[in-house]
Amino acid sequence: MYNAKAYSAAGATSPLASAKIARRDPNAHDVQIDILFCGICHSDLHTVRDEWHDHFATVYPCVPGHEIVGRVARVGAAVTKFRPGDLGAVGCLVDSDRTCPNCQADLEQFCPNAVYTYNSPDKHLGGMTYGGYSDSIVVDENFVLRVPPNLDLAGTAPLLCAGITTWSPLRHWGVTKGKKAGVVGLGGLGHMGVKLAHALGAHVVVFTTSPGKKDDALRLGADEVVISRNTDEMQKHAGSFDFILDAVAAEHDINAYIRLLRRDGNITLVGAPARPLPVEVFGLIFARRSFSGSLIGGIAETQEMLDFCGAHNITADVEVIPIQKVNEAYDRLLRSDVKYRFSIDMASLKSE
Ligand code: NAP
Ligand code: ZN
Repeated sequence: MYNAKAYSAAGATSPLASAKIARRDPNAHDVQIDILFCGICHSDLHTVRDEWHDHFATVYPCVPGHEIVGRVARVGAAVTKFRPGDLGAVGCLVDSDRTCPNCQADLEQFCPNAVYTYNSPDKHLGGMTYGGYSDSIVVDENFVLRVPPNLDLAGTAPLLCAGITTWSPLRHWGVTKGKKAGVVGLGGLGHMGVKLAHALGAHVVVFTTSPGKKDDALRLGADEVVISRNTDEMQKHAGSFDFILDAVAAEHDINAYIRLLRRDGNITLVGAPARPLPVEVFGLIFARRSFSGSLIGGIAETQEMLDFCGAHNITADVEVIPIQKVNEAYDRLLRSDVKYRFSIDMASLKSE
């Protein structure tokens, strides 16, 4: 066991603050990573503030962070995939049972025994797993991803959640050239959805509540931008979408988007507001439309996404911050004021 530096929350109303945490020494199959950058996902905020209490109650102290890029410091005796000095990345998963039908299908995110990077029981040290707002982490090599060498590291970190969470449903629902795809909410996930759907060849329409993001949306790869509070603009797209990805972090009217789908169109929710969203059944049944959800992605699919991003030179647009600004960054997330992902430079932890 060794000590790592971290930022941790003591309770749902406490700010994140400097703390020391224990990490295990690497076992035979483990990789110890010195963390260079960690993205800030809105899920970190939901968890730190215990907003998902009825589904996943937060156990404190909580160290969030599941968009991790770093350099391998030590490896266990049986590790073959990584050597000290290599780059390595970790997303939302650090383990699973590896035997259930979901794991067998490379869908570890749906494993009933999946271990999340933070706020999951830690079978090694007891207590809960601690995430990437830290200078170091130890993870089984099977859950560590390879980073394409050409990508900027601060902008690569968000691919580990925002990237894979948007990539997986875009691929599952066949978004490609000739398809009209919508992305709702231009935040961390949404802006990756735009970049990836554009790179997959689709006609991309962004729906935003923030008129000031219009030019950015076009620069990121959108073909059209709709200000979603403008009902006339929305109406122009009625019945026309093959697929819509909804990445909004708060309660909102989902039916306004269901009406924009064509026959057999699908809307997938990746945004995870804490309370239920009412769905108008008639919007679904009259055009055989479907409404579904999606959770991050499996390990193989995450590597596929990273390799695609390497080949297309895609990273997140990041605002790099020192960890001391993390509480301010959370307040800005709640105001939809992020362009388009905060990435924490973990060198800033050295002074703590
Ligand atoms: P984010 O960066 O805060 O972006 C959310 C965006 O939603 C905002 O930028 C804003 O976009 C829009 N929005 C916010 N409040 C709104 C409101 N009241 N009405 C309409 N639109 C609103 O968050 P994120 O990190 O991308 O995460 C988005 C959601 O996905 C969160 O709930 C997160 O927990 C969830 N998530 C799910 C998964 C999964 O596996 N399913 C993985 C990661 C995250 P505009 O300014 O463009 O309107
Ligand atoms: Zn996330």
